Amino acid sequence: MPVYETDEPILYERRGTTAWIAFNRPSFANSQNGQLLYALDAAFARAVDDAEVRAIVLHGKGKHFSSGHDIGSPGRDADLPVKARKSLWGDHSQLDGAAKAYVREQELYLGLCRRWREIPKPTIAAVHGACIAGGLMLAWVCDLIVASRDAYFSDPVLRMGIPGVEYFAHAFEMHPRVAREFLFLGDRMTAQRAYELGMVNRVVERDDLESEAGAIAERLATLPPFGVTLAKQVFNQAEDLMGKRAAMDASFHAHHLAHAHAQLTTGSTIGGQDARSMADSARKE
Ligand code: ZN
Repeated sequence: MPVYETDEPILYERRGTTAWIAFNRPSFANSQNGQLLYALDAAFARAVDDAEVRAIVLHGKGKHFSSGHDIGSPGRDADLPVKARKSLWGDHSQLDGAAKAYVREQELYLGLCRRWREIPKPTIAAVHGACIAGGLMLAWVCDLIVASRDAYFSDPVLRMGIPGVEYFAHAFEMHPRVAREFLFLGDRMTAQRAYELGMVNRVVERDDLESEAGAIAERLATLPPFGVTLAKQVFNQAEDLMGKRAAMDASFHAHHLAHAHAQLTTGSTIGGQDARSMADSARKE
């Protein structure tokens, strides 16, 4: 059984018309377990339900935004049944073979990210420190990204034999040539480089991150809410007409072929201990 280090992996705070939602697992670099992801889903739902809230900022407590999916903390809860908020695939823990991870990740990773991308209120990711792998997914589902100068982005999962994270937006977030380098080499992309590529809207000093994200949220709050919702839909539809959704479905299947291959060849869907120690060392920085 997982041992959770906190009952509040997500913090929710209202400041005026803005809902501030924070990852709160700083001792594990805000890595994402099921507990955190369902708490995040509840926080987003709370912000949507509150008529006073006109914009949402997603940020992280501690040194990092998010180091990705939890693959090694005592709170790793990958074997607990998923709640099927997004899908009706049922309890993945009753399944075996490739179905187990496939169903869990359809719900918890791909499904929830798509749900959050469609939140009717504008969302801003305020990113500092590490934004790695699964961390990228949660920045990418937001409408705008503000990064502090110390922020960096990377998707190193190809080193585990996995062709990118579950929400494969890489070739839409940056030029496909750059995205290839990003994934193949797995290097850290600085906030400045991400800004130059258009993946990030603003780069500010670390001390100015909250004030900048908050100021943008307050400007968004002055817009007609339904108009903003429609604008979000228009962008989502435009991206999907450019093939985003279909590309993501195709890459999700490749992702799970890779998980199954890793399981057959190493006994672990993420390629054994090498991947774990790699993730641990990233978190210790
Ligand atoms: Zn996966």
